[in-house]
Amino acid sequence: MSSDSALTSTKSAYVPTQEEEPPNPSTALLSFDTDSSDSTNPPQKSTTTILFITMVLVTCVALSAASAFAFLFFSSASSSASSNSLELTARPLNKLNHPVVLLISSDGFRFGYQFKTTTPNIHRLIANGTEAETGLIPVFPTLTFPNHYSIVTGLYPAYHGIINNHFVDPRTGEVFTMRSHEPKWWLGEPLWETLANHGLKAATYFWPGSEVHKGSWNCPKDFCMYYNGSVPFEERVDKVLSYFDFPADEIPMFLTLYFEDPDHQGHHVGPDDPQITEAVAGIDRMIGRLIDGLEKRGIFEEVNIIMVGDHGMVGTCDKKLIFLDDLTPWVGVPTEWVQSYTPVLAIRPPPGTAPSDVVAKMNEGLKSGKVENGNYLQVYLKEELPSRLHYFESDRIPPIVGLIEEGFKVEQKRTKRQECGGAHGYDNAVFSMRTIFIAHGPQFGRGRKVPSFENVQIYNLVTSILKIQGAPNNGSLTFPSSIILPAHQ
Ligand SMILES: [Zn+2]
Repeated sequence: MSSDSALTSTKSAYVPTQEEEPPNPSTALLSFDTDSSDSTNPPQKSTTTILFITMVLVTCVALSAASAFAFLFFSSASSSASSNSLELTARPLNKLNHPVVLLISSDGFRFGYQFKTTTPNIHRLIANGTEAETGLIPVFPTLTFPNHYSIVTGLYPAYHGIINNHFVDPRTGEVFTMRSHEPKWWLGEPLWETLANHGLKAATYFWPGSEVHKGSWNCPKDFCMYYNGSVPFEERVDKVLSYFDFPADEIPMFLTLYFEDPDHQGHHVGPDDPQITEAVAGIDRMIGRLIDGLEKRGIFEEVNIIMVGDHGMVGTCDKKLIFLDDLTPWVGVPTEWVQSYTPVLAIRPPPGTAPSDVVAKMNEGLKSGKVENGNYLQVYLKEELPSRLHYFESDRIPPIVGLIEEGFKVEQKRTKRQECGGAHGYDNAVFSMRTIFIAHGPQFGRGRKVPSFENVQIYNLVTSILKIQGAPNNGSLTFPSSIILPAHQ
């Protein structure tokens, strides 16, 4: 399979709405037709009469089949839109005196993990809340920092500036790492800053970017936890719960809660391993702890909980490798040019070397049939990447970007390593990169399924629930009304 056709197929897989088409009604009726004509066996003499009766019968059967189908179709369509027709508006608050959104991220929670084992607590949120039926679509590249920051800013990485977990600023030569907290890296306006700018309270228990001082947000003590991966998950949940013991006016309106699992395990063992199942069960227990704590405070039904992941996970193995040194007969790509190998190949050649020449020669080599796994890598000038990736408008994105098929990795040179594990970062149209969107609370319909959408929509969703004016972003202003219930009058 050539990379071209692979990209076309992933493109066609990228259908954020109407994922599941209803069965073709004409096919359904055809089968009824066939059955009924088989069952009628008219004698020759009264062919016309019998034919007429048969036609009437067939028409009746067809009509009833059609109406049955229509009933099924529309009832399922309406259950997609709202399972409870009585539920026309958001449910009123009793104990809380303002809306609250608790945004939870379970890192690397691939869509479908919720079925790996019994997850009674996650399923309680699903059954009584609103779920993206075929998962939440991450942004490209499907990496942790770019995605977490897209979720809270509504911006694609090219616009919020966190274009990878590690990158180089081409103007200054400075290196961004996941520990860089200087505001200059973090563009856009994250939700906690939006709240602070409105004079409202937010509390972050870890989220990429939350420690960065921006606008009115100065990462206030006790409301902004500095990242420390060794803090037990229980402690994080309990701290978040403690904010709900504040006087009603002082309860933060927006809170974040972050868990490293099951991404942590996924990188070591890939998505299909008992360790993942156990990690998913562990996350479910944390959701259970949270629900219990909220119920004890009598506010479980009043807090809008939005549970998401940042991306999915796919299995990798060291036989699925592409080596840049194999391209030497066409073009040398030295280590110094490469800013990132996998799963986003990012190359910045030195001044004087035309990126377009490098791209042409690399693709010539990759397509020659002489480079091992060459067909699984397609190299682009960033301005020629598929526009749906929105990965162009930033100096920080190097001029050459390679898209790697899911599960493959790019390395510089051959080694004797024989490892299998998991990775993410690939094209966001790839289904294995999808994650979850599960929302529960007074603003969300119960048992509702909505089509998949991109995570840049979440910023507007949160500001709509909180009824505050958000910053401009890449999400749609009309999107929230398709997800949340209108305010109670
Ligand atoms: Zn992640």
